[in-house]
Formats: sequence, C-alpha cells, structure tokens
Amino acid sequence: MAWDFSTDPEFQGKLDWVERFCREEVEPLEYVFPYAIRSREPKVRALVRGLQDQVKAQGLWAIFLDEELGGPGYGQLKLGLLNEILGRYPSAPQMFGAAAPDTGNMEMLAAYGTEEQKQRWLKPMLAQEMWSAYSMTEPQGGSDPNLFKTHAMRDGDEWVINGEKWFTSAGRVADILFVMCTNGMFVVPRKTPGVEIQPVPRNHNHIIYRDVRVPLDHLLGPEDGAKVLAQRRLGGGRIHHAMRTIAQCKLAFDMMCERALSRQSHGKIIAEHQMVQEKIADSYAAIRMLRLFVLETAWKIDNTSTQETRTDIAAVKYTMARVLREVSFNALHILGSLGTTDLTPLQAMYAGAPTMGIADGVDEVHKSTVARNVLKGYRPHEGYWPTEYFPAKREKAREKLEPLLQSDPELRTIADGYAKYFAGRR
Ligand SMILES: Cc1cc2nc3c(=O)[nH]c(=O)nc-3n(C[C@H](O)[C@H](O)[C@H](O)COP(=O)(O)OP(=O)(O)OC[C@H]3O[C@@H](n4cnc5c(N)ncnc54)[C@H](O)[C@@H]3O)c2cc1C
Repeated sequence: MAWDFSTDPEFQGKLDWVERFCREEVEPLEYVFPYAIRSREPKVRALVRGLQDQVKAQGLWAIFLDEELGGPGYGQLKLGLLNEILGRYPSAPQMFGAAAPDTGNMEMLAAYGTEEQKQRWLKPMLAQEMWSAYSMTEPQGGSDPNLFKTHAMRDGDEWVINGEKWFTSAGRVADILFVMCTNGMFVVPRKTPGVEIQPVPRNHNHIIYRDVRVPLDHLLGPEDGAKVLAQRRLGGGRIHHAMRTIAQCKLAFDMMCERALSRQSHGKIIAEHQMVQEKIADSYAAIRMLRLFVLETAWKIDNTSTQETRTDIAAVKYTMARVLREVSFNALHILGSLGTTDLTPLQAMYAGAPTMGIADGVDEVHKSTVARNVLKGYRPHEGYWPTEYFPAKREKAREKLEPLLQSDPELRTIADGYAKYFAGRR
C-alpha cells in the first residue's frame, strides 16, 4: 500500500548534513558577517565560497531546479524537506543557491530561455556572479494583472519599454530585471538608460521604465507569453515560501516551549498554566497540519504538475500566512516583554507575518481561486432540499429496502417502528 510518511535513509542522511551544516557553519557566519553573501569584501566572499563549495560537493546547489533544467532534480517533496531546514536560517537559501527572487527568475530562464540567453544570464546567476529582480506589480494595483500597462513596442531591432513598476524586491541591487509587459516578459539590464529607480521604498523598489531600449533577443519566451511565464514562476515560488514558513513556525514553537518551561508565575512554571498550554497545543496542531498540507501538495506536484495542483498551492499560500501569524503571535506572547524586543527573532517574524498574506498574491485572491475551483466539482441540488435532507433520504432508503421488508414482516414491523418514531419527532 503506497501511503508512507517516512523519508528514505539515504536522503535523511542529506537532511542531517544540511541541518548540521546550517547550524554549525551558516548561522555563525551570518552573526559575524551579516549579509555575507552580497559582501564586496574579498575575504568575506572567500568564506562564503568555501561554504558554497561544500554545498556543491554534496550535490545540493540550486536544488530547486529540475534535472532537465540543470539542477539535481530532487522534485518538490524532497525540496520541501530541505527547505524546512533552510527556512530557519535567513542566509541559508542563498548559501544553497536557492533564494528568491533569483530562483523564480532562473526557473523561467531555464524553462523558456534560448541557449544563448541561458549562457548570458542563467549561467552567471547560477554562479551568483549576477543577481536579478522581478518587476511585475504596478502602482495602480497588483492583485489584478489585467490592470497592468507596462508595454514594449518594437522599433527596428529593438524593444522600447515604457511603464511603471512597484515593489520590485532588490531591484536597486540587481544586475538584471525581469520586466513583465502586457506583451511579453523582458530581461532588462538595470543600468540601461531609462531605468529610473525611485528613492522609496528602499528594499522593494518603485521603478519607472522610460523609453528603455533592449535588443530583440531580450524577450524571454514567446511574445504575449508573460502570464504563462509569471504563473510558472509564482506557482513554484509560493510552495517554496510555504516550505520555509514551516521552518519559521517551528523556530517560534521551539522558542515558545523552551520559554514556557523556564519561567514561573503564580506558584508554577508558566507551562503548567492552562492558557499557556492551549497556545502550545494549538500551535503544535497548526504546524503539523500545515506541514502535512505543504508536503502533500509538493507530492502532488511531483506526481502531476504545478498547473494541476494550483488549487492546493493557492490554499497552502493563505494557510501558511495564517499559521505563521498565529504561531509567531503565540510565541511572542509567551516570551512576554522579551518577545516584543529585537533581541530574539520573534518580533521581526511576527511583524513580517502579514506580508506573507500579501506577497505573491493577496489572501483574498487565492481564496477566491480555491473556492471557484472547488465549486466546479459541485452541482446545485434539485428542488427545495439539499441532498443530505434526512426525510428525503429516509424515503429513498425505504423504497430501496421495500422488497426486503415485503419478504420479512418482522423486519417491516421494526422499520415501521423507527419510521413512526422519526415522524413523531418532526
Ligand atoms: C514582501 C513583498 C515582496 C514583494 N516582491 C515583489 C517583487 O519582487 N516583484 C513584484 O512585482 N511584486 C512584488 N510584491 C508585490 C506583490 O505582488 C503585491 O503586493 C500583491 O500582488 C498585491 O498587490 P498590491 O500590493 O497592489 O495590493 P492591492 O491589489 O491594492 O490589494 C490590497 C488589498 O485589497 C484587497 N483585495 C485586492 N484584490 C481583491 C480581490 N480580488 N478580492 C478581495 N479583496 C481584494 C485585499 O484586502 C488586498 O490585501 C511584493 C510584495 C511584498 C509584500
């Protein structure tokens, strides 16, 4: 029977290595040299390269890419198990060559790029010699792509892009920008004349593209294919976020439990107070449910496709945002005043939790998608009553059993007794 929740021992060995490596190597480097991966100091870069070489030697570099796209081809389920560890350490995804927004952009390049485009952009991005950003959302409203206006006009052997984008994460420091236009996805080097990065916001940039000229071969995928490419990018991105969110929830949960056992109030350790126990119990169950849901969705993607799993991916997306909000709140609350400071990861985790319900599509849009898709499997009932209306079901059941009752008067008497009882209750 194929219903197995265990991890094969060989892959478990990899997971154990990743866990140890992140705890013993990645995290200490991060505390002493924050943002080491983007550092321009040659000595810090050398430390990063040393660790990344170990990742590559384990065959764990760019783990999000399928084999045919140039990665190890672990598939989404194994990736989920790996991300459950990486998500606990802020710099780990980059240390493994698997951090957003580059992952999604590389996925698009790997899937839709020409050989030349792969050589020019994918190869250096895989080697982290080039960084990218994704310019899709527009200031007039991000939840509805039909409102987007940024457009590329063909002029001889160039495309001329005009438009305005909002919240392009890391746009300011990217070498190339993947710009979603109404008529295609374009790769724009950040230093191209006409790319005007506005002073605010600082990390998620507002960019005006004014008469930006790029050669014809900077169109990625087919003309008018931007929505298909965006779906490919965002589908994978959402499940990867969810996998890393499990790690964040577990971190909050570990902190909550440790603290609950370490403090006293009103004559007992706080873990013995029932309202604290309720928070621990609810958080435990919420994380277990989220984890199963995420891993099952990953498994479905592996066995079908991202497209066929889109309802569950959307449901996972808003569920993870909710669970992160609840669990990080519970943990922060149990840590009391300390939880409200920036001396532990909790305050930032809780403050950041609402963004999970906005980035990669707001909760409402995903919930509408889920409801619409789920409802396709249902039909309205006929007449006044729902299918599960008891009197109608009893009547139908009686019709079905009538031949049996006719052949056995004793049974008929018992059945009549029940019928009388139910009729009397009405
Ligand atoms: C941390 C972070 C990183 C991001 N990075 C990028 C990036 O790199 N590149 C990029 O292009 N974009 C990025 N975004 C933008 C993101 O894609 C948009 O924020 C998102 O699509 C929502 O668009 P909006 O912010 O314009 O909100 P709006 O579309 O204005 O929505 C605001 C609110 O309106 C309500 N609403 C909207 N639509 C509906 C609906 N159909 N039904 C019911 N209620 C609705 C909801 O309450 C919603 O929260 C990022 C966002 C965040 C938070």
